[in-house]
Amino acid sequence: MLQLGRFPRVRLGHMPTPLEPMHRLSDQLGGPKLWIKRDDCTGLATGGNKTRKLEYLVADALQQGADTLITLGALQSNHARQTAAAAAKLGLKCVLVLEDRVTQPTDAYRHNGNLLLDRLLGAHLKYVPRDASMSTAAEQAAEDVRRAGGRPYVIPGGGSNAVGALGYVGCALEMLHQASDLGTRIDHVVHATGSSGTQAGLIAGLEGARSGARVLGITVGRPRDNQERNIARLLDETWAHLGLAGAPSRDAVEANDGYFGEAYGIPTPAMKEAVDIVARVEAVLLDPVYSGKAMAGLIDLVRKGRFAKDENVVFVHTGGQAGLFAYEPAFAA
Ligand SMILES: *Cc1c(COP(=O)(O)O)cnc(C)c1O
Repeated sequence: MLQLGRFPRVRLGHMPTPLEPMHRLSDQLGGPKLWIKRDDCTGLATGGNKTRKLEYLVADALQQGADTLITLGALQSNHARQTAAAAAKLGLKCVLVLEDRVTQPTDAYRHNGNLLLDRLLGAHLKYVPRDASMSTAAEQAAEDVRRAGGRPYVIPGGGSNAVGALGYVGCALEMLHQASDLGTRIDHVVHATGSSGTQAGLIAGLEGARSGARVLGITVGRPRDNQERNIARLLDETWAHLGLAGAPSRDAVEANDGYFGEAYGIPTPAMKEAVDIVARVEAVLLDPVYSGKAMAGLIDLVRKGRFAKDENVVFVHTGGQAGLFAYEPAFAA
């Protein structure tokens, strides 16, 4: 039995997020039945998937008596922005260690989008050059906080460890419940996968509940083998943390690396097409780095007939719209 209630959690998000049909997109593509799980609507300073993870991570930080949250990511990290928001909401301090990961960033990339919000939310920002060690920089930031008499809690990149992944075990259970209320079943779940916590949590939840639903992660920068290894490792850790018997099947771990293009954070024509289509037919805003590339993958796989017409496919919208404003030049006609 999957029992999430025994893990400490602080409420940060607006849950449950809606599970809605995408009728017009399904019609336009000629099936299958496409649904969207609106985790862009988790509500925490423009929302996104890190909110669910932070509910468990921040509870752990509070239990340990921390007064400062530290995390790391790319300049336009949605995870960093949601961490800054969680800290603001709970009266904690926040240090963000941000890496210049994208070559030739524009002015918008450096100042708008998530960075604008990080500053508004009162986070302290530390910039690290590209290819420098991020974990060393985060450890250094923690040491600085300790030396000043504070109590740091370091959250891993993307909030992806067995504690953070619990948030997506919860999301899996939430979706199954909603599908059952809607009188439907979920055959496939598709979403963007980066630091792996979302996918590891979703698989643990869907497998743990014996739902029969399959999860497909569209990678945003890593080759498939590498990504699947990361997901499998975190899935095992999450499974053990949940106290479930046996081990989840390796067969449940599937990533597709065909849609991120040149590299992490670099726009692709298919991403722009996906962002355009979904805005125009569903009034849903995707983001350029994660959900836009994942949707490009879903659209292409639908066109190639990967799913049967009568199957139900849920796209988990992991958020990131604030990133649109950082990529304005990429969308300019
Ligand atoms: C972090 C992020 C993801 C990837 O989730 P992981 O748990 O890191 O794999 C997907 N979409 C958005 C918008 C994100 O910010």
